[in-house]
Amino acid sequence: MLSKRASNIEVKRINRNQVYWLINQRERTSKPEIAAFLGLSMPTVLQNVDELIERGLVIEAGTFESTGGRKAKILSANYAARFAIGIDITQNHIGLALTDLSGKVHLHRRLQKPFDDSESYYRELGELAMVFLRETGRAVDGFLGFGISIPGIISLDGQIITHSHALGIAGVPCHRFYEFIPYPCVLTNDANAAMIAEMYHNPGPMTAIYFSLSNYVGGAIFTQATQDFEHKPVYDRLFLGDHCRSGEFGHMTLFPAGSPCYCGKQGCIDSYCSARLLSGLTGNKLESFFLELPSDTALQDVWSRYLDHLAIAVNSLHMAFDSPVIIGGYVGSFMEPHLFDLQQRASQLNTFGQDASYIRLCQFKVEASALGAALRHIEAFIQTI
Ligand SMILES: [Zn+2]
Repeated sequence: MLSKRASNIEVKRINRNQVYWLINQRERTSKPEIAAFLGLSMPTVLQNVDELIERGLVIEAGTFESTGGRKAKILSANYAARFAIGIDITQNHIGLALTDLSGKVHLHRRLQKPFDDSESYYRELGELAMVFLRETGRAVDGFLGFGISIPGIISLDGQIITHSHALGIAGVPCHRFYEFIPYPCVLTNDANAAMIAEMYHNPGPMTAIYFSLSNYVGGAIFTQATQDFEHKPVYDRLFLGDHCRSGEFGHMTLFPAGSPCYCGKQGCIDSYCSARLLSGLTGNKLESFFLELPSDTALQDVWSRYLDHLAIAVNSLHMAFDSPVIIGGYVGSFMEPHLFDLQQRASQLNTFGQDASYIRLCQFKVEASALGAALRHIEAFIQTI
């Protein structure tokens, strides 16, 4: 009897979650549309919508044009009902981004601040976080917390940064990063965070690979997406591996005995596909590289070689996973005009026919890792609806 009641409660929770998530995704919908799309009865939809309105998560925003019968009310998610802030920590910068239940970036900042594993750094980080929170102008009762992304490997239990070459730390407890932040905090690997940003709105492919081309090359593997409308956190669908070291694509060997890699090996993908290879030629500014590229033949030669190497790496990922490969990171945000070129090169390498339409561009080009880190709070909240 108890288990039957428990399963009824679970069905109710799933229904409510599905109704909420559909409203969240559609931006404008109606009760008849929800009932039809989810295959729920009108009384079930009415009850759930009323509950969501009462909780301030859904609002009625006018009526649709009549199609003959009574005009249906427009339902929209109250995206501002909850919000979270993401902080992206890199070797030299701190990025901050505000998001809410819409999963969009509403405000962002990037400051130059070299990382230092010291109390003064963490204290300043806490101050910056508080300043940014005030800057959002939002009431803190809707604030869920800070998500922090770092270029490093975090233990499965989320307690220890086991290794971060970029930050020069190993075995550091995660709580050091939020010692001076009096709100809930969670740490996420930067590539995994960027993948969360990409997939938050996308119940799409069953598997997808995020290939992060920043100063260090990394990545993330997303699996087991479903088409249902119960929202399951993207983080729970990431393939993390036995030691949370999955997606370290930067250290797959591209050329045996090739260029030295910072990891101590030779010929790693990182040595050929890191953003530093490009930005290093234009005063460490990647934007300048792409600005000067059309009129500089020396840069064009470098870029052509870069694309050849990237094509090999991307093709290998496609051979391993047979799924979309999303080009992200710093270079990914400049890749749009060059996507066709990359696809052409990769298609020549495809064993299964000359196709490279599996190569996609990242959708989030500004503070993707900060956004994804913050979305962990947003997704955890949606689970409770
Ligand atoms: Zn390496």
